[in-house]
Parts: sequence; structure tokens; C-alpha cells
Amino acid sequence: MKKISILGSTGSIGTQALDICARHPEEYRVTALTAKSSREKLFDQVRRFRPEMAGLLDGIRPEEIPEDLRFCRWLSGKEALRAAAAETEADQVLVSIVGIAGLQSVLDALEAGRQVLLANKEALVTGGHLVMDLARRKGKPILPVDSEHSAIFQCLQGAGPNRLRRILLTASGGPFRTWSREEIHRATREQALRHPNWSMGAKITIDSASMFNKGLEIMEARWLFDTPADQIQVLVHPESIIHSAVVFEDGAVIAQLGVPDMRVPIGYAMSYPRRESTGVEAPDLTKLGKLTFEAPDEEKFPSLRLAREALAAGGAACTVLNGANEEAVAAFLRGEISFGEIYTRVERALEKLGGLPARDFGDIFEADRRAREVGKGT
Ligand code: NAD
Ligand code: MG
Repeated sequence: MKKISILGSTGSIGTQALDICARHPEEYRVTALTAKSSREKLFDQVRRFRPEMAGLLDGIRPEEIPEDLRFCRWLSGKEALRAAAAETEADQVLVSIVGIAGLQSVLDALEAGRQVLLANKEALVTGGHLVMDLARRKGKPILPVDSEHSAIFQCLQGAGPNRLRRILLTASGGPFRTWSREEIHRATREQALRHPNWSMGAKITIDSASMFNKGLEIMEARWLFDTPADQIQVLVHPESIIHSAVVFEDGAVIAQLGVPDMRVPIGYAMSYPRRESTGVEAPDLTKLGKLTFEAPDEEKFPSLRLAREALAAGGAACTVLNGANEEAVAAFLRGEISFGEIYTRVERALEKLGGLPARDFGDIFEADRRAREVGKGT
């Protein structure tokens, strides 16, 4: 039996991970659950999965804990995240919170010798070198949950000593794939939130529409698979059936296929190296008939160019891109700025702060803080 702690259990990834736990009660015991503010949902989960520990980032007072849920240890604020990552008896820690808070949680979990199942992108985007270095030292490789990275990881099983020559990182192209540049710049919140294939949290759905998500994924892949950015090719594949592929020296391409359902990559990270049922059926290829591919349009989606520039700049440039984007997306979701302004603010942040260093944790947080100011437009 594996013991698993889930950070961000009320979110899109967290709830799907719990679906898998519920499907295999003999395989998984849940040791900790945390959320930011969704109390009622967290209460239901604690009632059902009975963890040792639960916590709310926004805090909870003892008298607010329902009588029947006082069997478990309740914590508030950052202390809750820290304990869920490092203190319970978990073998595995699923980091499925959003934002740069994920970096500290990943480092805490690794430091405590836990296996990290990583959905949170920001940890690798902002502190990839720190995370990969600590994971190596602790002998606990990161297991990717992001569907593309899970696909690449799956394609590499059985690769033996063969190095991959190139990664084909697939992208659906999002809801604006066929729109003009001007239409994209004027897009509304509702239009941007309508992803053609995947159902996900709001922040990542907007990032899929802007293609900043793919930019962040190039950074993730760079660290997870120790592959230079120029060997990571973005391939637009609107059907989202091929979740990514790797190219070997001999010209062979190995791809992973599946319907777009996050339970497959989440389940694979949880049960690795085994596979177990997830409730997801394999795609019916005869019904699909054909799969299509195209090159990304970097004129229409400057996010890809900005991501490559940030990677090339090194230091804290990727942190700057991420922080400015996160704030610009929040401003867009509040209806304060146009969709096009997201690109403008990120570009401005990189021009202004792209040269900041990332020697340690302190540097990263400082770069993040300053980038957020630009992202907020202040
Ligand atoms: P979500 O918004 O649906 O859920 C986020 C969860 O984290 C919630 O439980 C929330 O309470 C908690 N949370 C939010 N902010 C927090 C903070 N500052 N500190 C601690 N907890 C916080 O998000 P999601 O879509 O599940 O995505 C989670 C992470 O996984 C993101 O980094 C995202 O990029 C990545 N990811 C998601 C998907 C997907 O399909 N949803 C796919 C690939 C990668
Ligand atoms: Mg992805």
C-alpha cells in the first residue's frame, strides 16, 4: 500500500487523484489533504478519505472544524503545506497546488525523502536547477504529472542508455488556434476559458489559450529531461491524442497516445512503474480516422518566443516570465485588461528584469515579487 499526501486536493488535479485513490482503496492510503480556501469541499474529502492531517492555507479556527472531523490534525497557513509535504507518513507527495508556492513544497517533500509527483509547473519553471539537484542528491527522481511530460517519461521507458535526440512537445493550439492576431488580442474571458479538449483550472486554461502554458512546458521539459531548449520542438496537434513524443538517434519516433483525460498521467505517476485502471478508455483510432499536425505560429502567439528568450537568458528570467504572466492572467480574469495586454506585460517584465540572477531561493522570490509588480501594471 502506498501512502500519499495531496497538496491542492480540492483542485482539478487533486480531485482526480482522489478519484484514483477511491478506485483502488487497497493500493492507496491518504495521509494529508490541503486546500487554499475551499472549506466545504475539503471537509467532504476529509470525511471520506480520513487523512492524518488536513490544512487550509487561508486558515481555520479550532471551533470551525466540524465535530466529526476532529480526529485529524488541522493546520493553517504555510505550516499546513509544510507539514503535508514533509511531516506525515507519506511515501508520495502530489504537489497539485497552483503558483510559485509549489517550489517550497517540492523542496520540503524532497528534503524529507518523499517521492514527488509533480503537477505544479511553477516549481520547475522558477527553481528547476534547485529541484533537480536536490532530487538527484536524494535519489528521488521527480515523477511528472503534466500530460506532455508524463508522455515523454512514458516514451523513455525502455530507452536504456539511448539518449533522446529531440522532444516533440504537442500542443492543442487552444481555442484561438485559427483566430487572427487582432481577434486574439481582443478575446473575452469567456472565449479564453473555453478550451477545446481539456477541462482544467482557470489559470492554466487561460495559459493554454495564450500558449504561455506551452512556454512553461518547454521550461519544465528542459529540467525534467535535461534537454536543451533547442531540442524541444513544439508541435501543434489539435486533437490532443498524441500527448508528446521523443525522437531517437536512429530516426525512430516514440509517441504516447490517449484520450485527453488527466487521470491517465496522474494515475501513472501514482502507480509507477506499474499501470492500473483509471476509468479511462483507450481512444478508438478508427473512429478518429486521422490525426493532424502543424507548426506553431509564433507571430500570433509571442509566448513561445518569450519563453525561449527567457530560457536563453537564464538566471531568474523564467521566474520573471512566470510571475508577470500569473499577475497579468489574474488581471485579465478580473476583467481589467485585454487578452493582448498579457503578452505586453510579460514582455515588459522580461525587458526590465530579465537579467536578474537566481543563485538561491532568495533571488528567485525577489525576482518573482518584482515581476509581479510589472504583471499587475504598477
Ligand atoms: P486548481 O486551481 O483547479 O486547483 C488548485 C489547488 O491548489 C486547489 O486545491 C487550491 O485550493 C489550492 N491552492 C491554490 N492556490 C494555492 C496556494 N497559493 N497555496 C496552496 N494551495 C493553493 O488548479 P489545477 O488545474 O488543479 O492545477 C494545479 C497545478 O497543476 C498547476 O500548477 C497547473 O499548472 C498544473 N497542471 C494542471 C493540469 C490540469 O489539467 N488541471 C494539467 C497539467 C498541469
Ligand atoms: Mg500540459
